[in-house]
Amino acid sequence: MTNGLHINGVSRPGDGAVRILVDPATGDPVDEITESTPAQVSEAVAAARCAQPGWAEHTAGERARILLRLADLVEEHAHELTELEVRESGKPWTTMLKGEVPFAADNLRFFAGSARSLEGTGAGVLSQGYTSMLVRRPIGVIGSIAPWNFPLVMAIWKMGPALAAGNTIVIKPSPTTPGSTLRLAELARDAGLPAGALNVVTGGADVGSALVADPGTDMVSVTGSTSTGRAIMTAAAESVKRVHLELGGKAPALVFADADIEASTRAIALGATYNTGQDCTAATRMYVHRSRYADVVDQLTETLAKIRFGAPLDPQTDIGPLVSTEQRDRVHGFVERARDDGARTVIGGEVPDGPGAFYPPTLIVGARQNSEIVQGEVFGPVLVVLPFEDEDEAVALANDSHYGLASSVWTNDVGRALRVGHRLDVGVTWFNDHLPIASEAPHGGVKGSGFGKDMSHEAVLEYTVTRHFMIKHAATDVPSVFRPA
Ligand code: NAD
Repeated sequence: MTNGLHINGVSRPGDGAVRILVDPATGDPVDEITESTPAQVSEAVAAARCAQPGWAEHTAGERARILLRLADLVEEHAHELTELEVRESGKPWTTMLKGEVPFAADNLRFFAGSARSLEGTGAGVLSQGYTSMLVRRPIGVIGSIAPWNFPLVMAIWKMGPALAAGNTIVIKPSPTTPGSTLRLAELARDAGLPAGALNVVTGGADVGSALVADPGTDMVSVTGSTSTGRAIMTAAAESVKRVHLELGGKAPALVFADADIEASTRAIALGATYNTGQDCTAATRMYVHRSRYADVVDQLTETLAKIRFGAPLDPQTDIGPLVSTEQRDRVHGFVERARDDGARTVIGGEVPDGPGAFYPPTLIVGARQNSEIVQGEVFGPVLVVLPFEDEDEAVALANDSHYGLASSVWTNDVGRALRVGHRLDVGVTWFNDHLPIASEAPHGGVKGSGFGKDMSHEAVLEYTVTRHFMIKHAATDVPSVFRPA
């Protein structure tokens, strides 16, 4: 039985409903968790409130030391964290152990360094007789809400910058994947984080709503679907609470005639299927210059056919199951409706026999630009390919989306790459690749993909407020409050 909450440094069962956690690769129950109640959300927020002034008084160096220790503990417990995540989300063992866990530790080390370089700018004499200082202060208590696609990494993207800046936090993981976040809170305590600085509550939208509504949270940071972000933003408006929203995506990949077709199809096949397509930056819409369209479809078909989907513990597995059979049915629903609408599946598109929430890499052609399969977030290993005639049309098709998170541009013409890059309405553009991320680089979108940055120093700044201290240091006879320089 997994404890359903972590408050004030102590893990214990919640008082809410018992949820059975299911291994999506087999459909078998793997554990039970007694979730938190809305009343326990208040208890967690009160603990965070109580711990916040003390945590903010730690020097930046002290906060950094604790985050560095936590990074070490994450690495030391890599196998345990991998096991939790694999059994709850179905990720391949190797992807988690060799990819996400080391990256999570790297994120923490970056945030530790970032804590020590937080500075206010603009100090000086800005008005005669006064010294001004701009100082960055923590916002206070952060309520964080996370999705199921990268549970450990998302928890660290939430807690790392918030704690680095001197905030305390209550985090609610997705109800289907709470294990690694709950364990992370215990490791943070063992790393020396004061009790109450990081609390975890579990449950679904009702527990999340309680966190958003609680008068004790000063900001809500959410990663999830656009509809969830909208609901949370509406609820937060009630108390004019700050929001930080990392929402859905529908990333276009634009392949120009001069691109290296082999390299682009290989990388886009990976970009569309990594984490079984459950990635907000996944390559989902590929627009190809008409002169190369037939070649690209042939090569993609060949590449996608080689991607091995199967048991997470099998070292040969490239992609595991989707997170649940509900998600698998949702993905298949998109594909069936696309076919009903006249599109064609070149490969994949059928639910395999046997247990588990598996779905094969799927390639769709002949879809209409304004159809659901091109416009909606599928969140599965499904790629749509469409042709374009020229640069203007490629940009128009890419920007014709409610979302604006990620994109990639494939060309060897540097002028074209930059021209197109500047015209895309998205948060990130890769050139001749799709997906790689680094702790130093901000991650976040525009339009329906939300606003606010994860990772990078910008993420830490998101969890601060700039204060102005204006100190009178000399007598002045200027009568006005308005003081042009
Ligand atoms: P979801 O929106 O269903 O749930 C996200 C979280 O919000 C969960 O913890 C859920 O319990 C909670 N929640 C749902 N409704 C709520 C409400 N009304 N009030 C408070 N909390 C509520 O998303 P999901 O299915 O868990 O994850 C997939 C989504 O996350 C996709 O849309 C994906 O694009 C997005 N995502 C975005 C990023 C990014 O960086 N932009 C990263 C990862 C995932």
